[in-house]
Amino acid sequence: MSDVRNVIIIGSGPAGYTAALYTARASLQPLVFEGAVTAGGALMTTTEVENFPGFRDGIMGPDLMDSMRAQAERFGAELVPDDVISVDLTGEIKTVTDTAGTVHRARAVIVTTGSQHRKLGLPNEDTLSGRGVSWCATCDGFFFKDQDIAVIGGGDTAMEEATFLSRFAKSVTIVHRRDSLRASKAMQDRAFADPKISFAWDSEVTEIQGEQKLSGLTLRNTKTGETSALPVTGLFIAVGHDPRTELFKGQLELDDEGYLVVEAPSTRTKLTGVFGAGDVVDHTYRQAITAAGTGCSAALDAERFLAALA
Ligand code: FAD
Repeated sequence: MSDVRNVIIIGSGPAGYTAALYTARASLQPLVFEGAVTAGGALMTTTEVENFPGFRDGIMGPDLMDSMRAQAERFGAELVPDDVISVDLTGEIKTVTDTAGTVHRARAVIVTTGSQHRKLGLPNEDTLSGRGVSWCATCDGFFFKDQDIAVIGGGDTAMEEATFLSRFAKSVTIVHRRDSLRASKAMQDRAFADPKISFAWDSEVTEIQGEQKLSGLTLRNTKTGETSALPVTGLFIAVGHDPRTELFKGQLELDDEGYLVVEAPSTRTKLTGVFGAGDVVDHTYRQAITAAGTGCSAALDAERFLAALA
């Protein structure tokens, strides 16, 4: 079967490009579906990245992803800026169909489709991303020293983000649409005990203000309908993530939240020859470097799998 590739990679963030680099350097000629609209992944939507090792002075997210892309291409990865619209991963030969209806076949598939952070759905949310609006305290907290910050959400992630941010911030206001939290008791206790953290209960954000940078929020009380201003220069949205696993439902094992299940510490899924890496698997760390790390692991797992077939 001459038209059967060694490996197809679905997704082009740090996980996908790292898997592409490693499989390309192993002479496996990977075919990479980068996605039609969001080639390069989540970091294409941000500004400065200060925590990817190797860049002493930081690097802009899109520049980092352009370099990863070029590095994978240099070693022979075939990159296609298109979406995969269906897959059949169950047989020995896997099939992957693109938006033109062309069916591509491979012995191994690496899934690196990432996860999408949930948005508030407000005007300005995207334009001020990286300019005061963030979805990741670990990534961006350092930029908000001595500033007033709002964290949106009532779960464990929101409490964790708020307590982490209180190390840097002048103040942190947790905005939650109900009058009690979903977070575990331990996380709640930590937030309640933190003198820098206060709560805006029964409140939702109705407006994100600012031209070039975030300057404040408008809140609406969900019980009384009253509006109020919250003057903050940082907004961290912690209302959840949706892993991009729709394509794989019914074929690959997913956990209760829809994340791809792998046989950790390997990247093997329950289906032979199918591997998963990056944020589509990981709901704990969600960092570019961890995504790149597991992308490397997936490439090595795929390489060993293919070598055993030969
Ligand atoms: P992603 O980067 O999400 O890439 C997934 C790719 O898969 C996308 O390109 C998508 O188009 C593609 N895809 C999905 N479905 C399909 C399909 N059907 N067909 C083809 N392609 C598909 N982390 C840090 O370490 N430092 C930071 O400073 C930092 N800042 C961030 C700022 C923002 C605004 C955001 C949103 C995230 C930030 N992160 C940061 C987190 C980091 O971006 C992610 O952890 C990382 O990008 C995850 O990599 P990934 O390869 O798993 O997935």
